[in-house]
This record gives sequence, C-alpha cells and structure tokens, in this order.
Amino acid sequence: MKVLKMDHLGIAVNSIDETKRFWADVLGLKFEGSEIVEEQKVTTAFFPVGDIEVELLESTAPDGPIARYLEKKGEGIQHIAFRVENVKKALEELKEKGIKLIDEKPRKGAGGAKIAFLHPRSTHGVLVELCER
Ligand code: ZN
Repeated sequence: MKVLKMDHLGIAVNSIDETKRFWADVLGLKFEGSEIVEEQKVTTAFFPVGDIEVELLESTAPDGPIARYLEKKGEGIQHIAFRVENVKKALEELKEKGIKLIDEKPRKGAGGAKIAFLHPRSTHGVLVELCER
C-alpha cells in the first residue's frame, strides 16, 4: 500500500456552528460547507489548510460514534486520515500484517470518498482513517 499524504484531521465537536467561529472567524480558514454522512451519523464540515483539511464532526444521533466519543473524551482530535491509492487493497494488506480493522471493507465518507478506519489498539492509540478520493 502507498500512503500519498496526510488528508485531514478529524475533530469531534458539540456544535459545528459554534466551533466554526474559531476556525473561520478567528483563524480565518475558509469554510467549505457541511455535509451529513448518514451512515456514520455525523455532520462534517471541512476547512482546507494548505493541502490538508480540518474536518469537524458533529453527531446527528445520540447513539452515533461521535456522540459516544464526546461522552467519553469530550471535544478534540478524534482521528487522523491518510490518503491512499486504494483503500480496499490497503485493508487487505493491513489485515495480512495483523492490523485490527474497524472496517473490513471501504465505506462511503464525506465528499464521495471511500474510507475505512483502523482500530486504535493496532495503531498505538490513534484512530487512523484511510481515504481514497
Ligand atoms: Zn475523517
């Protein structure tokens, strides 16, 4: 597998509207709009910075993964995402290497990306997302 670049940083927030003030108004980053990803029960909002992006994640349901994260840990960096050439192939390769996967198959992320998460138990505590776009 080949990691092409760091793609984005995922940050769990209670409210995109409130958090947006910091990233857009205070830091002056461009708000690229928000999108609901039903499958993950989140609303995402992207702010490009150079060639990576800040992704804010707000839960759309009390039983969603971001709601559970916020309950346990509060707001903050939730995952880092690396862009790969082919998520499906990367998952096969990582599985062979004994890496514990959260997603056995790619699923749909924001912006039509194919994404998959690796389990923090196999990555020394970091929730790693692979994405292909
Ligand atoms: Zn992400």
